[in-house]
Amino acid sequence: MANGICVYAESYKGKLEPVAAELVSAAKEIQKTTGEKVQAIVLADNAEKIAAELDRLGVEEIYAVNAGRDCSQQDDAVSQAIAEMLKRIDPSSVLIPATPEGRSIFSRVAMKLGCGMTADCTEVLVGTKEDGSYYIKQNKPSYGENVFVTIITRDGFYPQMMTVRPGVYTAQEEAEGGRANIEYFDDIKVGDSKIEVIEEIPAEAETGSILSAEVVVVGGRGVLEDDNFALLEKFAEKVGGAIGGTRPMVDSEMIPFNHQIGQTGLTIRPKICISFGVSGAIQHTEGIKDTKLFVAVNTDEDAAIYGVADYGMAADLKEVLTEYLAL
Ligand SMILES: Cc1cc2nc3c(=O)[nH]c(=O)nc-3n(C[C@H](O)[C@H](O)[C@H](O)COP(=O)(O)OP(=O)(O)OC[C@H]3O[C@@H](n4cnc5c(N)ncnc54)[C@H](O)[C@@H]3O)c2cc1C
Repeated sequence: MANGICVYAESYKGKLEPVAAELVSAAKEIQKTTGEKVQAIVLADNAEKIAAELDRLGVEEIYAVNAGRDCSQQDDAVSQAIAEMLKRIDPSSVLIPATPEGRSIFSRVAMKLGCGMTADCTEVLVGTKEDGSYYIKQNKPSYGENVFVTIITRDGFYPQMMTVRPGVYTAQEEAEGGRANIEYFDDIKVGDSKIEVIEEIPAEAETGSILSAEVVVVGGRGVLEDDNFALLEKFAEKVGGAIGGTRPMVDSEMIPFNHQIGQTGLTIRPKICISFGVSGAIQHTEGIKDTKLFVAVNTDEDAAIYGVADYGMAADLKEVLTEYLAL
């Protein structure tokens, strides 16, 4: 009988990716209802170091394969080994980071195991069947990001696999380790890969800087008029903030999609968020979680954004920005 909530512990160049701690936190939420063990799988050149980090995150069972080489990007070979691991562990669900690596490896794993996989969940909840057993409700935006759907894995197809967007769950905090049961599958080898990495080019996209920025300046449709966006950029520079935006900002190509904040975009947790000309639709504010200080500027004093902001300024953003920049 499939049992356990298993997290794929993605690592790169010997370091556990921060998203792993977020998925452990999601798994612990599921555990509160299902009571299953929280597990993790590691496949890396230095599996011991990664396993020790997972132990400090409070994972109860860790299953590891020492790859014996850096197998970054070798998803053909890695997916074969991970499929073998999952057959032995037999978890009821697997949480995978919705990263290029997670998607590429686990779409192949799903084929090998003959189970489904839901991509890009922004929420994972637990449902109860009539017989009292549990299933995972895999919530995600769909149909061109226009509707929010719940996907359920068909009965009998285990494990229930899903990729979960980075940034959605608060990272599990580290504690003292030493409690996890760690098992190495020494007989599972990472076979030869048809993929050879010739050169690595750092990504140009600055999404990472928004995710880690302490200050984020968010522009909404109100910024689209006149030279308001230029003012917003100067303001962001002055306060040392990264720029994010609402969907209309992306639709009008003022900012790239990977700077959209919200249900179908990024989830950010800056210390300070200052938004200009944003109405405060739930699909947008869902992406601003646990911001310590939230300031909003909107001409409409009844705007929904004032329901989530700590401080509001019912004023024209052009006037506010011009006056601030003149200081
Ligand atoms: C399934 C689904 C998923 C979605 N996902 C996302 C998502 O991830 N992110 C997202 O952002 N949206 C998302 N949306 C769209 C969302 O519902 C809203 O339409 C969108 O967030 C509105 O953006 P906005 O606040 O910039 O524009 P508007 O709602 O048009 O608001 C503009 C605001 O600017 C104010 N304003 C205008 N001029 C000025 C001025 N000069 N000074 C000050 N204030 C001014 C106005 O009073 C108004 O409140 C999604 C929608 C759906 C259906």
